[in-house]
Amino acid sequence: MNFADSEEMFLHLCARGATLTDHLESADAVLINTCTVRDHAEHRAISFLGRLMKWKRENPKRIIIFAGCAAQRLGKKLQKRYPFLDIVAGAKSIEDFPTLLDKSGLFSPAGQVIPPAPNLSAYTTIMRGCDFKCTYCIVPSVRGPVKCLPAEMILKEIIEKAARGTKEITLLGQTVNAYKDGETSFADLLYHVSQVPGIERVRFTSPHPLYFTQDFLDVAKRCPKIARHVHIPVQSGSSKVLQEMKRGYTRELFLEKIRALKDCGFSVSTDIIVGFPTETQEDFEQTLSLVDEAGFMAAYCFKYSPRQGTPAAQMQLLPENILEKRLSILLNKVRGLADVSYQAQVGTVQEVLVEQPGKGRTSSNYWAKVDASCPIGSVIKVAIEKAEGTLLFARNL
Ligand code: SAM
Ligand code: SF4
Repeated sequence: MNFADSEEMFLHLCARGATLTDHLESADAVLINTCTVRDHAEHRAISFLGRLMKWKRENPKRIIIFAGCAAQRLGKKLQKRYPFLDIVAGAKSIEDFPTLLDKSGLFSPAGQVIPPAPNLSAYTTIMRGCDFKCTYCIVPSVRGPVKCLPAEMILKEIIEKAARGTKEITLLGQTVNAYKDGETSFADLLYHVSQVPGIERVRFTSPHPLYFTQDFLDVAKRCPKIARHVHIPVQSGSSKVLQEMKRGYTRELFLEKIRALKDCGFSVSTDIIVGFPTETQEDFEQTLSLVDEAGFMAAYCFKYSPRQGTPAAQMQLLPENILEKRLSILLNKVRGLADVSYQAQVGTVQEVLVEQPGKGRTSSNYWAKVDASCPIGSVIKVAIEKAEGTLLFARNL
């Protein structure tokens, strides 16, 4: 989501004459787009800001824009602590970003936006904010309640991107499959996007387990362009912890959803939090056994990080050594997942969207090495002959 927000903010800067540079020394302005989901992410953004102090002192005309979720959370406090900050643009006000730029008087007036050529694989935000209240999560307070963007506007954006060369679209939202615009459901939107001429693949992230309904499976069966991979955060394998997290589903329901998806040919990856304040050793073992049972292709594991203002932050933290130990046990288990799932692809026939010279991804999101002569952007049918680590070796059919 931050990548997509950064692209959007960049377009507004482009309209005011900006271009990109990779070198801080030659930049006139820096935009830091921040995350606050975990404390570590926020610290990194702020320590970078600290490093920029010298850069700004060297030439006070240089501009610093601090944007995103950490900007939303810390806003006024930050400007007091770092008075050299020129613009603070919280995540909730991304739609007001152009107004913030204009009000600052630091940029020339907006001209026509000539967007740079979109990537072969591009993001499209379909929903902002979140209506859930998971007890560990800061997102609803920094991004606000759900706002679904109009389906017509989303399709227009995707048609334009496809006309300029985009082949793969990833639809974005915090509970992306809860999308609804009038009569248009998430499944309807997926169908329409998959019909856009030029679009070869449609992905989405992050869905919520509760919203995987039969109509999604029905549309997926009808539309092969809907990629056969979903990233569904489970967070814990213990129904008790899931309830305390207010996730709205049990371990059993989650596994049921996964089974239905796998029966439809989907590979599944997930997010897991270890060390939620009420997590006992037994709860943790249930997470380990869920990993065995679910057959994920990958799992991103995070140590619980208390976030100010969330209900879980009021609870007694587990000792750090327990968090560290559980994370390391889980990471050890998860490390083997990719190997197993890549090996399981050997002997199958897949379609690969070529994204780089000699390399692309299968519909179920495995990287594959293909013949270097395959044109970038083409979809080719291949036989998977070998897997090494996280790379498949494919032969053109
Ligand atoms: N909306 C998605 C969902 O429903 O799960 C997740 C969005 S969240 C921005 C991305 C991931 O960060 C979550 O799946 C979770 O694993 C992790 N996360 C969120 N809050 C966390 C916290 N307080 N401590 C550790 N990890 C956290
Ligand atoms: Fe956070 Fe996702 Fe829960 Fe929303 S659904 S509160 S974004 S974890």
